[in-house]
Amino acid sequence: MSLVVEGVSASYEAGSLALDNVTLGAGPGQWLGLLGPNGAGKSTLLRAIAGLVEHRGIIRVNGRDPAALPRRERAREVAFVPQEPIMPEGMSVAEYVLLGRTPYLSLLGWETRRDVLCARRAMQMLDLERLAERNLSHLSGGERRRAALARALAQEPGLLLLDEPTSALDIGQGQNALELIGSLREMHPMTIVTAMHDLTLAGQFSDHLALLSEGRVAAQGPAAEVLTPECIRDYYQANVEVLTMNNGVVIVPVRAGL
Ligand code: ADP
Repeated sequence: MSLVVEGVSASYEAGSLALDNVTLGAGPGQWLGLLGPNGAGKSTLLRAIAGLVEHRGIIRVNGRDPAALPRRERAREVAFVPQEPIMPEGMSVAEYVLLGRTPYLSLLGWETRRDVLCARRAMQMLDLERLAERNLSHLSGGERRRAALARALAQEPGLLLLDEPTSALDIGQGQNALELIGSLREMHPMTIVTAMHDLTLAGQFSDHLALLSEGRVAAQGPAAEVLTPECIRDYYQANVEVLTMNNGVVIVPVRAGL
């Protein structure tokens, strides 16, 4: 599923632009990594693509404007996992993941065998089976993240939008979640857009990076072009070294005076 974003601007309050004429895109099956310091506009852009933020300019998912689609149809095309998903009270993990199938249910609202299998497979992939009957309010931050991701995967979207998918996960879980997302693309053709703070992981997993700053695209391209010490100093005010390894670049913070 292709994503086109052309000249998109958005503001929350009159006068200040959270997105300022953003143009970028991703081809079918590509992984686009959004980078940028806090407040740069990454979440706003993800929410605009998901049809949740009013904007000017053009957003097309497979040639169609997601904001103009009926909700059920949009949910079959685009899944969005925010940084802190709101989870219904008193629901088990299994029930919550099954909610990902809502856009596919008949008007009577019954799940089919396929819906149940899809939800179960998503839980297996995210190692949630032993937590299936656990109440959502009794999960750790990392478990909640995995449950939210499982729900999005059960949705079988063509475009998966993830805001900071590794933020509450430990290093191993974060790496596993990204590996899993990457491998899913081979099974189910899916275009992925992630907003990430971890520059090394973003560079290793994305096919293409776009660095936002003050609502604008400051740089975009492959990791080796975007993740330079100069770019990271200019936009993050960080002092880093960039090492090149066989599977991509590694960003190493350098302490002042060392
Ligand atoms: P990022 O995800 O890169 O940290 P955001 O998209 O959250 O950036 O924020 C972009 C800008 O929009 C920031 O200046 C932020 O303060 C502002 N902003 C974000 N959400 C809201 C909101 N709900 N109301 C008002 N301003 C907001």
